[in-house]
Amino acid sequence: MFKALLINKTDDAGYRCALTELDEAQLPANGDVTVRVDWSTLNYKDGLAITGKSPVVRSFPLVPGIDFAGTVTASEHPRWKAGDRVILNGFGVGESHWGGLAQMARVKGDWLVALPDGLDARDAMAIGTAGYTAMLCVMALQRHWAEAGVKPGSGEVLVTGANGGVGSIAIALLAGLGHTVVASTGRLGEADFLKALGAAEVIDRSTLSAAGKPLQKERWIGVVDSVGSHTLANACASTRYGGAVAACGLAQGMDLPASVAPFILRGVTLYGIDSVMAPLARREAAWAQLATGLDRGKLAAITHEIGLADAIGAASEILAGQVRGRLVVNVN
Ligand code: NDP
Repeated sequence: MFKALLINKTDDAGYRCALTELDEAQLPANGDVTVRVDWSTLNYKDGLAITGKSPVVRSFPLVPGIDFAGTVTASEHPRWKAGDRVILNGFGVGESHWGGLAQMARVKGDWLVALPDGLDARDAMAIGTAGYTAMLCVMALQRHWAEAGVKPGSGEVLVTGANGGVGSIAIALLAGLGHTVVASTGRLGEADFLKALGAAEVIDRSTLSAAGKPLQKERWIGVVDSVGSHTLANACASTRYGGAVAACGLAQGMDLPASVAPFILRGVTLYGIDSVMAPLARREAAWAQLATGLDRGKLAAITHEIGLADAIGAASEILAGQVRGRLVVNVN
């Protein structure tokens, strides 16, 4: 038997997530690797799944948790054997396939990435899908800058949703690479925290969150945006000639009320970042760069540990934008 969160939806009880005990025999049959979960985490999408605020769960009952780090206990997959340390992000896990907010999981071996040397399972989940997505955003900007010959420190990089999981890790990563980071937040009271992560300046997100002009003063050589909507439109409109914006989130909204002006008049590039179905080689590159390029002291400063049962209450807090940084879940 093992402990897990389980989401059920029935006509009688409605939508409900509760801590429960399950039998290993109940794990999904459509998986070829069984993993003892060491650590999991709570992401924005997990908040949506646990509360039912958005229809991210596509089959019931379902164990939520879009990511985990753990140890293989049994494998029929050629790449994995018992004892291997692995990370899982995305691929519909925690949405249509049972996920990581549990002590055991069974998934497809093709979905797993080896835990890189120098990174332990707790730090991997302190990073979690939010940090891995921040890394994918930074890698897209790095590829763009390499081609354009842009050097770190040659201009400001904007990070929106700065106190969130993606935003806070993006700040630490970009600052670690030598960039001048400007953090946009609705929580100006956390400015010292954001500066300790590496932000050179903290701005009020209200300067970006309302409808703005199609072309604005050129400021950013790059942007990591986890917010979407008017914020993303304004970020594009204020990106410098030839600069790039990496868009991964929708914390403000899914809409994009923008014009083509920044793209056709300033050659701005908008990169879409998806972590869920990203190819294996890109995942491995992202985790390798996270293992070496993320300051562990900063990671520790943004990480809060909670238990499996606490994840239910924390789900509403993450949706309300009340969580600072990352929540790592001790499932054991
Ligand atoms: P968090 O909840 O940790 O952070 C989101 C942050 O956005 C908040 O902390 C807040 O930052 C800011 N924010 C919240 N509401 C608003 C609003 N109405 N207007 C402007 N800013 C707002 O979430 P994550 O960092 O985990 O995820 C961020 C986004 O990225 C989510 O939309 C998530 O779904 C998406 N995502 C996408 C992935 C992909 O594969 N594309 C993978 C992972 C996440 P502050 O308080 O500093 O203003």
